[in-house]
Amino acid sequence: MLISYSLAFVRNTYKLIFIVCPLLKSNLDQKATPKFLKKHNEALLLREIYAHEAVSRVQLAKLTKLSKPSVTELTQGLIEKGLIFEIGPEDVPDKVGKKPTLIALNADAYQMICVVIHNTTIVVSLLDLRVQVIEVEKVPLNGSTGNDLVDLLARAIKRMVDKATRPILGISLGSPGIIDTLNGVIHLTANFGWHNLPLAQILTDQFQVPVYIGNDTNFAAMGEYRFGIAQGVGALLVVEVGEGIGVGILDDGRIIHGSTYAAGELGHTPFPFLDDVCICGQCGCLETLVSWWGLKRHAEVLLKQQHAVLLRQIVGDGPVTSDAIRTAFEAGDPDIIALVDKAANYLGRALVIVINLLNPYYVVLTGSLLTFGDRFIDTVRTTVHDHTLPYITSRTQIVAEPLDDKSIMYGAGAFLLERELGL
Ligand SMILES: [Zn+2]
Repeated sequence: MLISYSLAFVRNTYKLIFIVCPLLKSNLDQKATPKFLKKHNEALLLREIYAHEAVSRVQLAKLTKLSKPSVTELTQGLIEKGLIFEIGPEDVPDKVGKKPTLIALNADAYQMICVVIHNTTIVVSLLDLRVQVIEVEKVPLNGSTGNDLVDLLARAIKRMVDKATRPILGISLGSPGIIDTLNGVIHLTANFGWHNLPLAQILTDQFQVPVYIGNDTNFAAMGEYRFGIAQGVGALLVVEVGEGIGVGILDDGRIIHGSTYAAGELGHTPFPFLDDVCICGQCGCLETLVSWWGLKRHAEVLLKQQHAVLLRQIVGDGPVTSDAIRTAFEAGDPDIIALVDKAANYLGRALVIVINLLNPYYVVLTGSLLTFGDRFIDTVRTTVHDHTLPYITSRTQIVAEPLDDKSIMYGAGAFLLERELGL
């Protein structure tokens, strides 16, 4: 009896630690002390309060399975921290006796600074805890790289810090590249000349608040899951196709980083019948066709072969640009249409592999190649449909999202909320 009780206790303790770990930062080396459990239970309550516009303590006890005295004590602590507040009695018309008091999140308890770093601009936003935008500033990079770009970034953040009217919960940045999110180090963002850059530490030292940094496509997946079109759908892919291909993978609501934080580098997978040398040095990568630089290279070959007559008229003797390819496509150049169809077909075939491996609910297509419109997206969908078993894709939706900053910004905010408040 004692042994089975002990085993059950041990099992439950492990289970508890396993549940607690994802909620709080730096928790793998913490044991379940009373203080730790209190923080965990606070986070449980705060999650439910965050999920509701208004909720009573009785409802919170039911939702969290915490005892009513615990809910009372913990909510008092959260009120004293300014994270929640009482908004008055619940409106229950026929209830006799005292009506329960409703509680709500104080979205203005803190403000958050979320930064999206693009190839040509930085977008810095000031958000409340409900990720509502209070201020936003777009800063052109003007070709800045390396330390100059870090300085530009820091100055833009400083301007936003000065605009904040509440304490700052932290700063969260989404950037292209291979990024060690847990340690805040950018291993490689070739376009910016960043190699092993401890950006989180640099900004923490300057602003004295927690700083997080993550891959932009990973944050986009997190953003769609928490606040976007795939809310609550834990198995999700975000596939961005533009200058290259980036895939953000979410499993059970968690970002899959991989052993060297390079999970999702689908663009550097070799494919049959592609034999160009890639920017990575390998031969025949998917990106040598499915990217703007890949399309430009293929379009130049078509021009040399005296094909793509409409494109030739558009570019004359000048270089092939993304806009020229799009214009020739829209004007009906049959060779450019065939080229774009081929790219969509290859992307679809690549997605078949990923879908067969991960069996996601959602595949969110995003990025500037989507400006080729319905034909491109439909070709991707049809290719996936034609090459997968119906059972595997029976619950998988492939949806297209226009390119904007919101999903990355939301993801950066969601990551900060999770890390700092357990939300
Ligand atoms: Zn490659």
